Amino acid sequence: MSTQIPYATLILRWYDRHQRILPWRAKTGTIPNPYYVLLSEIMLQQTQVATVIPYFNKFIENFPTLNDLAEASLEKVMAMWTGLGYYSRARNLHRCAQEVAKQSGEIPKDYQALKALPGIGDYTAAAILSIGYNQPYVAVDGNVERVTARLFAIQEPLPMIKPTLAALAKTLNEGREAQERAGDFAQALFDIGATICKPKNPSCLICPLSEVCKASLEKIADILPIRQRKAEKPTKYGISLFIENDKNQILLRKRPEKGVLAGTLELPSSIWSEQYISIEQAIKETGCLGQYQEIGEIKHVFTHFTLKVKLFKLVSDLKLTQVAQDNMWIHSDELNHYPCSTLMKKMIAYSTKI
Ligand code: SF4
Repeated sequence: MSTQIPYATLILRWYDRHQRILPWRAKTGTIPNPYYVLLSEIMLQQTQVATVIPYFNKFIENFPTLNDLAEASLEKVMAMWTGLGYYSRARNLHRCAQEVAKQSGEIPKDYQALKALPGIGDYTAAAILSIGYNQPYVAVDGNVERVTARLFAIQEPLPMIKPTLAALAKTLNEGREAQERAGDFAQALFDIGATICKPKNPSCLICPLSEVCKASLEKIADILPIRQRKAEKPTKYGISLFIENDKNQILLRKRPEKGVLAGTLELPSSIWSEQYISIEQAIKETGCLGQYQEIGEIKHVFTHFTLKVKLFKLVSDLKLTQVAQDNMWIHSDELNHYPCSTLMKKMIAYSTKI
């Protein structure tokens, strides 16, 4: 058994042969671009690599440097983020770029200074320092937690065991090789988690760690990490109004700057609550007076709750009251130029077909 070989050596040897080619990654022997690291890490929060790649490329094409991003309007940044979800990330990214540009223009090389920036937590700070600046930090995300839980056969459930897993993960880069190749090591761990030590059916047979991995040796890799059963997601209910004018433009307005889908455009909508309110109440809330016909119901699953929305279409003249502000009339073909969430696009697509 090769228990004498440090984890880091096994991991780095594997990485040298099997690393993924990703647009934000520096090629071997070249200096990484910390802006690419920051941008990709923020996009990758809660989002799959395959989904992020076209967005990353689009951002780099439009904002080649952090300064370009800082100087861009928030509307343009939000519009380009459309479809990637978790919109507060886009707003924080923009604020973060402006903050860095205002200081030295260089992304900080210090953990605390990074964490003081909008949208940057422990994980992202560690990822930027290790990948962008080759500092020996271990960035612990869900992938790394899973690999660690299996390597050490930890059988206590998540999320309670998170701090233990983080502490154990931080021992994985012990040894000179991992310290000197901190960026490669961080990315190697991500790659192993994403391509080999997958949540289901881990490929232990081709894993560089199989001979030192306790879960693999004990044949319990499939059941780790153990997760405490989540409480069922609550359901919220809302009413949205589809209002089109004779130029085929749709009435949209901006959601509040805080909360779910913050700052994106939406159909005039009621507040999402524990149960459906009446259409009369929704009309009052939105200030869009007229006759409406119910055309269907849309279901959308967010991370923390499920949303059900009844859609109503205006079938008479429209009268706007003072409640209605920030109205915009936008043609459905032009939606991609505006920060419009996947949920709203789904509702608009549904309504325009009726
Ligand atoms: S041997 Fe299996 S369980 Fe262990 S780290 Fe590799 S893929 Fe994961």
